[in-house]
Parts: sequence; structure tokens; C-alpha cells
Amino acid sequence: MFEIATAKVDNMRVSIVGGGFAGLAAAQLAEEVTSDVHLYDKGTYSGDRRGAWGEMVWDYSQLPLDRHVPGYVREATTGIFIGSDGKTAINVPDGVILNRGELEKHWASTLEETEIIADAEVDEAEFRKLSAESDLLIDATGQFPISRRFTSLSYDVACPTLSGRIEADFSHLYPEPRALAYENYFLWIVPQSPDEATIGLGCQEDKSPAELYEDMRQLLAEVDIEPPERETLYSGTDVSNGLRSLSDCSYELNDCTVHIAGDAIGLANRLTGFGMVHAAQSGQAAVRSFVQGESYTRRLLCQNFWTKAVTGVVSPVHHTIGLDGIARLAKSDIEYQESFEPQQPTDILSAVRIFI
Ligand SMILES: Cc1cc2nc3c(=O)[nH]c(=O)nc-3n(C[C@H](O)[C@H](O)[C@H](O)COP(=O)(O)OP(=O)(O)OC[C@H]3O[C@@H](n4cnc5c(N)ncnc54)[C@H](O)[C@@H]3O)c2cc1C
Repeated sequence: MFEIATAKVDNMRVSIVGGGFAGLAAAQLAEEVTSDVHLYDKGTYSGDRRGAWGEMVWDYSQLPLDRHVPGYVREATTGIFIGSDGKTAINVPDGVILNRGELEKHWASTLEETEIIADAEVDEAEFRKLSAESDLLIDATGQFPISRRFTSLSYDVACPTLSGRIEADFSHLYPEPRALAYENYFLWIVPQSPDEATIGLGCQEDKSPAELYEDMRQLLAEVDIEPPERETLYSGTDVSNGLRSLSDCSYELNDCTVHIAGDAIGLANRLTGFGMVHAAQSGQAAVRSFVQGESYTRRLLCQNFWTKAVTGVVSPVHHTIGLDGIARLAKSDIEYQESFEPQQPTDILSAVRIFI
């Protein structure tokens, strides 16, 4: 299903910087057309592979991965969203909970022709050098990518986040993932088992990690969960863009085509569990469009039209049409359960009491 259907090309070098879902999917597909694929990542593919965020996918079949591989935790076909319109149970089509670090380690181990250069943080000079040596260079370095130094790429939305995996008694929440979604505030709890969960807090206001940590402590206290140590949490930024920004996804450097994929081009979508799927699909699109001589921008626009429309157009009016309206647009079946009117943090605490 994922092949490019072409013979291997001689003397074509594909270099990929960043080996998350976007980079791994790009390498997997590039192997089908050339034996000269290099993947650079600043982390390693052994031991405890980094942060805990990005743990639930909708529509797992869109990923070029088998099921029940290391890092595939379990199916999760329902989730509960709490928003200003009330509590909504959503059927998640082909939803799967992942241990992303484990899955990425497994994925990297399946790449047979790719030379993986781990523990290698590529800087601007090295990136330029790679462009001079490569036919196709893919920037899959995630949020705030290296290509920001070479293009006018910017993001429409940037939410500070705090996330981590914690061990505690989650048996009262297990098995459904929970998301509290408000105009300015998001909290995810994704139980991986009755005693372990991934948690993530994101905020559209410009809050510091210390302020986010204080909010997270309060929320977790409400669900009788011991807060994790601050040092165990990962501070990040959840970026997303409308369709307009996709026009910056490709450029030339030293006569080399550079395609930007995944979070680097702002493909994460904070209202749906499609960040990892979009990242993988864009990594594939970056390779496929180059090999087939098509426009990468056009391919991304076609692939992402509907979900970008949901974030770019529907998000600003989501409190008008409600979470149930968004769920319908995202083609999910929903069951509307009850109503209340929480607005800001004190009300979020009352929402938490309702959602457990
Ligand atoms: C709190 C939070 C929760 C989320 N939850 C979900 C979810 O439930 N479901 C979902 O689908 N998505 C979720 N997302 C989004 C999802 O995590 C991302 O969309 C997805 O991981 C993007 O993949 P990527 O490969 O583009 O980038 P990344 O996964 O960020 O990978 C980038 C890679 O590049 C490497 N790198 C970076 N800079 C360099 C450099 N200079 N040199 C070499 N290597 C470099 C990094 O080590 C990393 O491996 C969440 C995001 C956040 C912040």
C-alpha cells in the first residue's frame, strides 16, 4: 500500500534530519527507491527514548506500521472530551494508544538500508553541508525546526505545553483517554494501564512552565493523583498552522531540494489525535513527490485539507458550534451526555470532578 512503484534509482542520496514519525516514515519510503538514505537524530534509539508526549492516534491504519508491534499498547476506540458545552463521549475510529518512544525504537530497527546516525545534533553548518551532498534533504526536526533559519516559516498558533508519563493509581480513569478542552486550556490524560498514564497540559496563553506546573498540580490533586516531580516533565510547544503556511514547506539550498515535514511545518492538530499520523504522511509525501516530480506543497494541501479546515476555520468558532459540532465535522459519532458551564481554572476543577 505504501510503495512508490518505481525501480531503485542509482546515485540518489536522501538525507533526513530528525527521526520522529515524520523522519522515520520518510526513511522507510526512501529505502524503496534508493540504497543511499541517511537519517540523523539528536537522540538515540535505545534505552529510554525521550519525552512522553504524542500517545494516542486516531486512524492507526494510516500509519505504515503493523499492529501489535513494540510500542503498540492497546486499542482505544472511545475517548471523553470535557468542554464548555459539557461532557462528550467520542468514538475514536481505529484509535490506538502508543508508547511512542518504544514504537520509534522498533520502527528504526526495521529500516534495513538506512544509515542511522544517532546522538547527532545537526547544526546550521552541517545542514548546509548535507544539502550540498544530497539530492533530497528532509527537515523533520519537529517544532521550531532548523529550516526556520532559511525560510520565513512561522506558526499561527503556539501553545506552551508540559507533559510526561507518570505512575500512579489511574484505575478510576482507565481505560478511556480524557481531554479537557476549553478556549484557552487543554489537559490530556491517556491511561496506558491502570497504574500508568501520559499526561499533558497545554495552554494558549503565554504561561511559563512554572505556572503550567502549578495548574497541573491543582488538576491532578483534584483527581487524587500525586503530581510528578517537575524535572520528570517535558516542556514543549504545540504549534499548528492553517493551510496558508504550507506554502513554505519546500525550498532549494545548494541546488538541493529541501522538504519540511511533520511538526516542523506545523501539521499537528490540537483538536484531534492526528499529529503523528500527519507527521508520518508528510514524511512519505516529501519522498513521493520528489521521486514522482510532483509539487510537495500541492500534495500536502490535498492531504491536510479537511483537518486543517477543522483547526483553521472551525477552531475560532468552536465555542459557538460546540465540541459535539467539531466531533461531527471530524466524522466521529458522538453521544452528548450532560451540560455545565465551566470557563476558567476554578471551573475546570469542577469539570474534573464531573469527568471522573
Ligand atoms: C503535549 C503534546 C501532546 C500530544 N499528543 C498527541 C497525541 O495524543 N496524538 C498525536 O497524534 N499527536 C500528539 N501530539 C503531536 C505529536 O507529538 C507530533 O505531531 C508528532 O510527534 C510530530 O512528529 P515529528 O516527527 O514531526 O516531530 P518529532 O516527534 O518532534 O521528531 C523530531 C525529531 O527530530 C530530532 N531533532 C530535532 N532537532 C534536531 C537536530 N538539530 N538534529 C538532529 N535531530 C534533531 C528530535 O530528536 C526528534 O526525534 C502531541 C504534542 C504535544 C506537544
